[in-house]
Amino acid sequence: MQPTAGRRLLRTLHRWLDSQAPFELPPPPRTWGQRLWRYKNYLLLHLPCLGVLWVGWSRTAVLVALGLYLVRMFAITGFYHRYFSHRSFVASRFWQFWFAVLGNAAAQRGPLWWAAHHRHHHRYADTDQDVHSPSRRGFWWSHLGWLTDPANLATRREYVKDWLQFPELVWLDRFDKLVPLALAVSLYLLGEYLQRVRPDLGTSGPQILVWGFFISTVVLFHATCTINSLSHLYGWRRYDTTDTSRNNPLLALITLGEGWHNNHHFYAVTARQGFFWWELDLTYYLLVLLSWLGIMRQLRPVPPQVLAAGRRPRERGV
Ligand SMILES: [Zn+2]
Ligand SMILES: [Zn+2]
Repeated sequence: MQPTAGRRLLRTLHRWLDSQAPFELPPPPRTWGQRLWRYKNYLLLHLPCLGVLWVGWSRTAVLVALGLYLVRMFAITGFYHRYFSHRSFVASRFWQFWFAVLGNAAAQRGPLWWAAHHRHHHRYADTDQDVHSPSRRGFWWSHLGWLTDPANLATRREYVKDWLQFPELVWLDRFDKLVPLALAVSLYLLGEYLQRVRPDLGTSGPQILVWGFFISTVVLFHATCTINSLSHLYGWRRYDTTDTSRNNPLLALITLGEGWHNNHHFYAVTARQGFFWWELDLTYYLLVLLSWLGIMRQLRPVPPQVLAAGRRPRERGV
């Protein structure tokens, strides 16, 4: 018996809220409508940005957007990537959870889903098994398409066995829409509050929601995705790795240090990705600062032999 439309909607909603809800891989999409449906989460994130035409802008709203971009980018690069994916430093259970929550607020799925797919990428980078290689399936697929493939929606738990012992992380990963939803609601309420108590700021609930959540999250999302797409296409290669990773200073700037991707593919377990002093790596500087405050420790350095291998032949005296 075919399920009714109401039941199908409920099932979709359940699946949307609970990433462990029962799910069968659908057949490949045949129509444009079916293809577009796969992008539903990303349309939900992108389309409200057009709301800026109605809500306008204010200095407060833009500052909230910028602040949330920087804080959440740090949580993604410092924790989702360097901590949960590569264990490049040590943090307490308390801090690992709260930085996971902050990373989750970026609406890039849960920490375990993110780390598992990223570990898979390092293992199979630019081979047929790599799920987001631009050299195998093109720019668009590596940037966004792979995220819409139902085969990539589940957390690859076999890649994050070391994190499954923490029920709070497993829970956060399972209900990965709750934190972004809570952030969106909080920002709306903040804007409404500011409109009432500080009308001189010229902001409102809808304006802070559009700038602080939608625009900030979409820019943050695409900046992060460039590391899967553009940093395997444009830039230079210091190390002769088996993948197509490149170093790109512009991408390093917008992602707070992730653009030194060729360095990273060569030696992934260090807390820094800018290996030399002129390679700007804001995430690493912040991690050092937080380590001085005792929030994390044992930042793994770049070994001298890795640095030596990365120096140009002239500098090495060859
Ligand atoms: Zn890569
Ligand atoms: Zn990595």
